Amino acid sequence: MPAENYMSLEEVAEFLGVTYQLIYRLVRSGELPAARLGKLYRVSRADLERYLESSKTPAAGGVCSVCGTVYKSSGSLGNVCKESGCGEPICFDCWNRLGIRYCKKHAKK
Ligand SMILES: [Zn+2]
Ligand SMILES: [Zn+2]
Repeated sequence: MPAENYMSLEEVAEFLGVTYQLIYRLVRSGELPAARLGKLYRVSRADLERYLESSKTPAAGGVCSVCGTVYKSSGSLGNVCKESGCGEPICFDCWNRLGIRYCKKHAKK
């Protein structure tokens, strides 16, 4: 991540390894917040990080971080720990039936 607080769309595209067109479309559709200065867009690091965080999807398959059950597809691991930046998978059983929202490490009393 570049040190500047604001990045051009070109820099964002390069940083993420995607095309400029993709970033431009995300900005135009409002998915990725950006400041418009004349014809130029600037994306703040905080907004970019928030966008990346919200667009995260659980990896295919894995182990529930709460009960330890191994799942072969991400379909049963539909949720992740709500602690920001954690991303530990939580299975539907724990999430829906037990109401657990955090992995063991971040479990609230
Ligand atoms: Zn579980
Ligand atoms: Zn966690």
